[in-house]
Amino acid sequence: MFHQQGLAQARGLGHGKVTHLPSPKSTPYWWEDCPAFDGQEPGLPETADVVVVGAGLTGCSAALTLAKSGASVLVLDAERPGYGASTRNGGMIGGGYRLTYQEMIQKYGQETALRLLTESHVDSLEFAASRIRDEAIDCDYHTYGRFRGQWNKAEYDATARGLDDLRKLVDVNIDMVPKSQQRREIGSDLYHGGMMLHDHGGLHPGKYLNGLLNAAAKAGAKVLGETPVTKVSRQGDGFLVETTRGVVKATQVLMATNGYTSPDFPHLKRRMIPVSSFLIASEELSPELVDDIMPGRRMYVETRHRHCYFRLSPDGKRIVLGGRAGMSKIPQSHATRVLSGLMRQIFPQLSATKITHSWTGHTGFTFSFLPHIGQFDGIWHAMGYSGSGNAMASYLGHKAALNMLGDKAGDTAFTKTPLETRFWYRKRAWFLPFAHQMYRLSDLRENLSRDR
Ligand SMILES: Cc1cc2nc3c(=O)[nH]c(=O)nc-3n(C[C@H](O)[C@H](O)[C@H](O)COP(=O)(O)OP(=O)(O)OC[C@H]3O[C@@H](n4cnc5c(N)ncnc54)[C@H](O)[C@@H]3O)c2cc1C
Repeated sequence: MFHQQGLAQARGLGHGKVTHLPSPKSTPYWWEDCPAFDGQEPGLPETADVVVVGAGLTGCSAALTLAKSGASVLVLDAERPGYGASTRNGGMIGGGYRLTYQEMIQKYGQETALRLLTESHVDSLEFAASRIRDEAIDCDYHTYGRFRGQWNKAEYDATARGLDDLRKLVDVNIDMVPKSQQRREIGSDLYHGGMMLHDHGGLHPGKYLNGLLNAAAKAGAKVLGETPVTKVSRQGDGFLVETTRGVVKATQVLMATNGYTSPDFPHLKRRMIPVSSFLIASEELSPELVDDIMPGRRMYVETRHRHCYFRLSPDGKRIVLGGRAGMSKIPQSHATRVLSGLMRQIFPQLSATKITHSWTGHTGFTFSFLPHIGQFDGIWHAMGYSGSGNAMASYLGHKAALNMLGDKAGDTAFTKTPLETRFWYRKRAWFLPFAHQMYRLSDLRENLSRDR
């Protein structure tokens, strides 16, 4: 019975009946075993060498590097530290962006394109892994490998060709997995083989952020939550940082607000598109079911535009699955229904599995699909991770800090990927619901183009 239902869903015939607890928790599963940071400042200091706005991976990584260099650092967050995407994400860590090498060459020239590839595929992941190791961050980090399911044969063939080209440029540890061998990795026939990125890993995002936050605080950074920054203006050689708690004088300021950038900062707001991503976590599965669905114990993503990504929780007992349920704010119950349906489409074996958590967060997309480090009116920013960031946000936070310190080691090709805007993007990303409807059309086309 499960099998027939699964086939119907795999053909794109709808999401079927939803099985979830009356109301899954709307907070991230990761927040369950991740205590709130308890080293916060009692109040707002009057001065700091550097004010970092946003206590996510970018801000905490930057603060750690700055504090270690001896600078006095104040990290402010509008909500509790770590409130943003950094503790809400899927916990997959790896590299690479969706732009092809040819597209990068066209936009940035060959030399920069090659550096972008190397930094995104290799350097950022190596840096994040070394930071976890050096700071002894206990965040369930493990190199699981990532299986990227190919939607149809044409895509499989194109990906294999692209991999051959990539191998000539960057030393990557990636292989193709033909459909005939796919069942070793995943208990699903939905995909037409896959790409295996052996060096990619997984971690517990809540513990990772907490580890960086604690390391920054231990190095001397001051951290204060519930303190929205409302304005940054020049004053003499430095800046005046206005917050709801008062004013701080700073020599330098770093904006690290990514998908949570507020309209108080119109220059950045017009360049960051806050695309929502949605995630669910299931009840605990039996060991037999776990063996059945994820024999390879990998991180899993796919090439279709739904962009489902899924994995086991670090204790190996639950499935955590995310994807495009909408691109902007939608009722969480609707997101739960869509994601449960996608979960059962991929794994018909989970048709009776209950959902315990369902939550959302904002990614920060740029028009170029690449992140950027730079300055506007003397204020630094590092943002625009466009859907990923566990490796890149830690890396670019560090690079931004080095740039602020005037250290040549801060050199990165991501200063050459300027944040673009469009005349029609002002205060609100009004176009996201329309973009979602267009994607729904491509979802239909993709369902038809899948090899049976
Ligand atoms: C649902 C979801 C799943 C994802 N899955 C993955 C994944 O599996 N792997 C991966 O690599 N990446 C993933 N990502 C992307 C990744 O989480 C982000 O790229 C990364 O966390 C960005 O970190 P950040 O520090 O730049 O921003 P955030 O962690 O979003 O932090 C920004 C902070 O700025 C604060 N802020 C905003 N405005 C102000 C202000 N005016 N004053 C003070 N504070 C302010 C916010 O409160 C927030 O805490 C996912 C993202 C989402 C949303």
